Amino acid sequence: MEYIIEKQRKIPVIATPEVLVAGGGPAGIGAAIAAARSGVKTMLIERYGFPGGNLTTAMVNPFFTFHDEKGNQVIRGIAEEFVDRMKQMGASLGHVADLTFDNASMTPFDAERAKIILIEMLEEAGVEMLFHTWIVDANVVNGVVESVIIENKSGRQAICPQYIVDCTGDADVAAFSGVPFAKGKDEDGSMQPATLYFRVGGVDVAQLRNWMKKNRDLLKDSPCDEQIDKQKAIAFLGMNSLVQQEKETGMLDSEVAPRILMYELPIPGVFSVNTTRIQNIDGTKTADITRAEIALRKQVIEVHTFIRKYIGGFENSYIHDSGIQVGIRETRRIVGDYVLTEQEVLNSASFEDGIACGTFAIDIHPPHGKKQIFTGSGKSVYEIPYRCLIPKDLSNLLVAGRPISATHIAHGSIRVMATCTAMGQAAGVAVAMASRQKCSTREIDIKQLRRELVKQGQYLLNENIDKIVDPDLILDTKNSDGEKAEHYNPFINKR
Ligand SMILES: Cc1cc2nc3c(=O)[nH]c(=O)nc-3n(C[C@H](O)[C@H](O)[C@H](O)COP(=O)(O)OP(=O)(O)OC[C@H]3O[C@@H](n4cnc5c(N)ncnc54)[C@H](O)[C@@H]3O)c2cc1C
Repeated sequence: MEYIIEKQRKIPVIATPEVLVAGGGPAGIGAAIAAARSGVKTMLIERYGFPGGNLTTAMVNPFFTFHDEKGNQVIRGIAEEFVDRMKQMGASLGHVADLTFDNASMTPFDAERAKIILIEMLEEAGVEMLFHTWIVDANVVNGVVESVIIENKSGRQAICPQYIVDCTGDADVAAFSGVPFAKGKDEDGSMQPATLYFRVGGVDVAQLRNWMKKNRDLLKDSPCDEQIDKQKAIAFLGMNSLVQQEKETGMLDSEVAPRILMYELPIPGVFSVNTTRIQNIDGTKTADITRAEIALRKQVIEVHTFIRKYIGGFENSYIHDSGIQVGIRETRRIVGDYVLTEQEVLNSASFEDGIACGTFAIDIHPPHGKKQIFTGSGKSVYEIPYRCLIPKDLSNLLVAGRPISATHIAHGSIRVMATCTAMGQAAGVAVAMASRQKCSTREIDIKQLRRELVKQGQYLLNENIDKIVDPDLILDTKNSDGEKAEHYNPFINKR
């Protein structure tokens, strides 16, 4: 039997919010809080029991990236409020220099406390949350998504919102609504690999620093003592030759990333490890995700055994926990009214309808397992046009976060969590404006949207807004020759 036909049935409409936000990841948080603060009745649907998306469920760390190379803070707004609240709770040190990749800042945090802070922020904004709920379908009539179908413990039900922001990371609502989309590379559709993050506890950090000084050649760019000492939170990247050696002996799965990448978290002796890896996973196919879970949970043990064996300070460490699901870097990208390209990302493009900035280097873990590609180096600040959030042919749906309308390569930059939160905030404000004006998402006044975002503290190019430079980030104002440093993070140019 190839298929069956389900019997027709009546299902209850359980809510009619003005704005429905689908998915509570970084983009969904921004969208739901912004819409609710704008005064419209806002509902957030999330399939897990807490918000955060990759930030909590997949334990992705650190938050990238709030600052351009000169130290201007180009992501602010709700993302920055969230960081401030984490700092107050001791769940983040705030923005610190990024010495692993060429970004000015990184923001490590504790995913566990982040869950609670996000719930509080949503509650305070007045968002109605419905957790443990999957969106499984959508009904479109004349270019309007009239309802979405949900499933949870209470059965199959419907929600009839006026506007929807799809923040599912996979553009599920858009796909259910028939929006055209692309996946992966143009040539073959292959997508970036999946990774299961895990946290390691019981690390002797002082011993690790000493070990790093004695084994700098095993680390990327062989950092000097000063660089190691000045890292407020250690970012560890390297061990490539030993990883290769242990793959050859069979101690490590051949698909494991070619290097060890770990970040010290604001929990004493705890590090977040981003090193497991599996290729050829389509995050919209459950059989693939299952295969990834099985392979990567085995890799966690192998990678931890490797770390304990080879890296000083980890001898008595233990696996603290891991993401409740593998992290998926890339799935669908909708075809919207505009497609953002890598040239625009690298050339600091600004747009009349720019609604959020990005400044992360284009970071593609190539689908075929070769070297990571870094194009640009966090130098360019570009804007994301509002049109990239508008799916073709629909008038009440926006898509924010990872699956916006962009090329595969541009996606390698826009996908990071700070940028996604900023996009979400813009989408939330936009649908609230559309709701008040009873117009389509294409008809809102873009200048007014940009003004409102700037009023809310967001940074946009070509707007009169004070530069905010984070003093915590300044490591040194002189370069190695004692001259005034040209770059905000003086280590960027020393490599
Ligand atoms: C391995 C890995 C490493 C990364 N490294 C970094 C990094 O160091 N720094 C950084 O900033 N970014 C990093 N990223 C990128 C970043 O984590 C994601 O691109 C970002 O989280 C995307 O945000 P989002 O809100 O669009 O989607 P997501 O974070 O995926 O959130 C989507 C939310 O929607 C929910 N959802 C999905 N489908 C449904 C449905 N049908 N019904 C109901 N709910 C649904 C999900 O449960 C989830 O909560 C990394 C990603 C991965 C996978």
